[in-house]
Amino acid sequence: MFLSLALSLLLLAQALAGCVQPVAVAPPATSPPASIILIPGEEDTSVRVHMLALNISNPTRTQIEAGYQEHIDAVTAQGGLVIMNHPDEAPWTIALGELMTFKNYTGIELSYDSHSKWDAVLTGRVDSGAPLVWGLMTDDSHREAGCGWRFIMVRAPAATMEDIIDAIRQGSFYWGSAALINDITLTGRDLNVTLSEPADVQFITSGGKVAKEAHGSTASYAIQGNEGYVRVDVRAGSRREAGTQPFRVTPTGIDNPYAASGQWYRGNLHAHTLTSDGTQSADQVIRWYSDHGYTFLAITDHVHWNVTGP
Ligand SMILES: [Zn+2]
Ligand SMILES: [Zn+2]
Repeated sequence: MFLSLALSLLLLAQALAGCVQPVAVAPPATSPPASIILIPGEEDTSVRVHMLALNISNPTRTQIEAGYQEHIDAVTAQGGLVIMNHPDEAPWTIALGELMTFKNYTGIELSYDSHSKWDAVLTGRVDSGAPLVWGLMTDDSHREAGCGWRFIMVRAPAATMEDIIDAIRQGSFYWGSAALINDITLTGRDLNVTLSEPADVQFITSGGKVAKEAHGSTASYAIQGNEGYVRVDVRAGSRREAGTQPFRVTPTGIDNPYAASGQWYRGNLHAHTLTSDGTQSADQVIRWYSDHGYTFLAITDHVHWNVTGP
């Protein structure tokens, strides 16, 4: 108590000492609510391809002139995560061939309804034995009206930066525009989902093939062993959708990205502010997500880079 009071007085004294005209001191900026976790991030923006760089410790290191893969490697080398942005959105389309060729990225942003590029990438990764790529939805918000539409729900042991980042790396999260999923479990070879309301459920396997459809508050699928991967899509009305990450299936076993226990925490990994082309200050954006129950947020303003190679 005394220490924090002393620290506040010290900071106040320093702030006042730093002002040329003390009478014109601006009101203090809104401090970020203590409850929201701010993941450091930026949207690395070439003329065409956009990528999120999250959990970066040294942003200037990513602002190098480089080819796409070199750029991805520069982010991951410092412990960062790379997400491919809006691959279906012209003129920033990312070709399927590029998504299949790039290595060491963590996820692909999904638009409503169409996830065919993601399924094609997953199918290629399963066939080649490469690590899978997670799907996610984000707001990519530029104004208040764009906040709160699409998010991820991370299942992590605790609401800490480290646990949230680890869970994203492991695929322990689902994506959506509605919080439709309560639980995802693997019991023996049965993949089960428990939902927050009755919904249409699809179990999707390698090649984007729908292996089973169901309707209800729970659904299960018995994994045969030759699917390559199985993921679950849930729909409950227009643009009310949620989906799991893929479970890789091999003849010897099933990889369950949801094996760890924990609680669900909502977050948005893609938001813009006045620093680039958003219409709200960082404080306003943070306040909005905090007021709406989000546990974590990444503010990802555009940082432009020149692509100099493949
Ligand atoms: Zn973008
Ligand atoms: Zn953006």
